Amino acid sequence: MQITGRNIIGFETFSEGTVAIQAINPATGETLAPLFYKATTDELNYAADKAAKAFQIYRKKSGFEKASFLEKIAEEIENLGDLLTERYVAESGLPQGRAAGERGRTTGQLRLFAQLLREGSWVNARIDAALPERQPAPRPDIRAMERPLGVVGVFGASNFPLAFSVAGGDTASALAAGCCVIFKAHPAHLGTSELVGKAIQKAAEATNMPDGVFSLLFDDGHEIGSALVKHPSIKAVGFTGSYKGGKALFDAAVTRPEPIPVYAEMGSVNPVFVLPKILAEKGSAIAQNFVASVTMGVGQFCTNPGMLFLQKNDNFMKELEKQAPTAQGGVMLTTGIRDAYVKGIEHAKNFTQIIGIGKAPEGFTAVEPIILRTDIEGLNNNAHLGEEIFGPTSLVVEANSREEILQAAKNLTGHLTATVHGTAEDLAEYADLIEILEQKVGRILINGFPTGVEVSHAMVHGGPFPATTDSRSTSVGTMAITRFTRPVCYQNFPDSLLLDELKSDNPLNIWRLIDGELKK
Ligand code: NAP
Repeated sequence: MQITGRNIIGFETFSEGTVAIQAINPATGETLAPLFYKATTDELNYAADKAAKAFQIYRKKSGFEKASFLEKIAEEIENLGDLLTERYVAESGLPQGRAAGERGRTTGQLRLFAQLLREGSWVNARIDAALPERQPAPRPDIRAMERPLGVVGVFGASNFPLAFSVAGGDTASALAAGCCVIFKAHPAHLGTSELVGKAIQKAAEATNMPDGVFSLLFDDGHEIGSALVKHPSIKAVGFTGSYKGGKALFDAAVTRPEPIPVYAEMGSVNPVFVLPKILAEKGSAIAQNFVASVTMGVGQFCTNPGMLFLQKNDNFMKELEKQAPTAQGGVMLTTGIRDAYVKGIEHAKNFTQIIGIGKAPEGFTAVEPIILRTDIEGLNNNAHLGEEIFGPTSLVVEANSREEILQAAKNLTGHLTATVHGTAEDLAEYADLIEILEQKVGRILINGFPTGVEVSHAMVHGGPFPATTDSRSTSVGTMAITRFTRPVCYQNFPDSLLLDELKSDNPLNIWRLIDGELKK
């Protein structure tokens, strides 16, 4: 398969635009062939019209048909072989092992949604049987289930060129829900995006999906992305990236004549709390693992532990002073991300002390890790220190007392995760800390590190604003599917007009809530 630089619109490809863009290898600074043509407004409109028409067919596909489509996408991604992983490495500066791991995560995610669809109970079918004899008024037959929203606009994340990109979690959950997808590729990995886009196109044709169920558009500015969010055919948006980008798209969506939901996953500092008894028992191991977690993937994870709170402990600080200079930096994903990191660190250095600076390898966008420290007063006086600096850095905040720790937790804004390290005794003594954190984040971890997000049924990768624009959902795991559905109620419908999920004899043998009781 060749990379062509053409936009994918349903089963066709186009390059009507006159403005070309190219991906850059962040390790060398070289531009990568071929040229990609920025999508035009006409191409966007054409993709949206096709998607709206395709939705009228795709929304009626059974769970089994959609499952076969998702499984075929996974197979086609695997068929791309080394071509995909080599392009991924060239465009991201991330190592081959990460490319292979992320491909496995992407195909595994698609197959997990396929499993969910085959099992079928996710639709949350509810049946309240008619009560014709009820006094003073009879009750009609009432049934409800989740139905797809329509066409979804999705923006790829720079930091996961596969798992949060073209066939990533947002696309997989939207397609599983029965929605068509128009995807705005991230300009940092244009070739990787096209290859995966073609895999989806091939899978759609092979499994008899409608032309327009998926489109992929290229751009490296905001024109197409903004127009996508404002297009009347778009009924929801999935996004992963910066606070600035996510909030701008959210604002654009809610001020449309017809406002639509935006599921934007934005910045997060992911605070870690290390409690006194575990500090005394295992402080040096925690310090080592903390530095490893901060620098993993050059710190380019939304779950990077960007802040660590503890009550003053000299041994822990000494261990960090030993570990931090040994930490390895690396090549960042884009020049923009590197520049933002360098600027953020330069600014933060004015208000903090340096615990240690790691090593930067050779490379066009290479950076060194840095661990900084302040105390509670320093943090309180410089609120911006609590904001994300995307990259291999973290701020250690020293407190004088339990009360200062609890107050710091209360002052937190919304984050994706919070972590508590503690012995059984610590955890009992700090039960109130956990209660505070539960109100601040989407996932709480005990004695671990937040990097590494499992794709599973119970995973929550979300959290209160400003971590996301909608805290009621997750962008990782199968619960993500309901972001792109809405409940529809069918009153007094004859069986023949109902979808199989709601028919009286339960032909799909799914779990349903019948008169308030979960039954098959
Ligand atoms: P970004 O700048 O938010 O861009 C993400 C995507 O949204 C890109 O396709 C971008 O298009 C588009 N976009 C951004 N603002 C837009 C707007 N106002 N209108 C229309 N489209 C818009 O994120 P990024 O490029 O991935 O990285 C930049 C920074 O984001 C990083 O330095 C980091 O701080 C943060 N980030 C956070 C996470 C996280 O999970 N917390 C993940 C990745 C990045 P164009 O690129 O074509 O402009």
